[in-house]
Amino acid sequence: MDLGFSKKMKLVFLDRDGVINEFPGNGNYVTKLKEFHFIPGSLDALRLLSNEGYSIFVISNQAGVGKGIYSKQKLNHITRNMLKEVKSVGAKIKKVFYCMHPSSAGCDCRKPGIGLLRRALESMNKSIHAAKKAFFVGDTEVDILAGHNAGCKTIFVLSGREDYRHMRGWKVRPDYVAKDLLEAALIINQESSSRSALSRKRASRK
Ligand SMILES: [Mg+2]
Ligand SMILES: [Zn+2]
Repeated sequence: MDLGFSKKMKLVFLDRDGVINEFPGNGNYVTKLKEFHFIPGSLDALRLLSNEGYSIFVISNQAGVGKGIYSKQKLNHITRNMLKEVKSVGAKIKKVFYCMHPSSAGCDCRKPGIGLLRRALESMNKSIHAAKKAFFVGDTEVDILAGHNAGCKTIFVLSGREDYRHMRGWKVRPDYVAKDLLEAALIINQESSSRSALSRKRASRK
């Protein structure tokens, strides 16, 4: 019996700044490689999720490109290095999706829009409905909204821009709060194993 949480569908969407690498500060961007620093534990988290068979996508707003603060080439350079580091620890990020538009462009890919999630799922020949089985991990309200808008389970991490106090004014509450990506990865892993235990239990009752 398929309860919709089949083993094949293990999917995680991650914001980048404040989740994988250190948040560059309010109003700032990671404009060069020198400014990209992995948050302690984030590589371990990526390895854990990779080992557990999760497809990992990065979903990130990088409006600094659209504003002309740094070039698309610089961003690509940073991305290539990030992926190289991730690979070197035995982890894998399947694909990185950026919205490079300024908020004034009114695009559908800038979070809290779900355009990038849709594109990520399309790259796996899945529709947006598959997002219901996915987790979205982010450090801001915009991330939690994007994940919520797509139907994901959401995890708010405290390793980036916003903290507990910000949550009071949010339109949508996250499903979980975690210290950082490593703690989020443990939550994801635990939640998935309890889901499969539950489906086994339900299946055995039939
Ligand atoms: Mg962020
Ligand atoms: Zn966009």
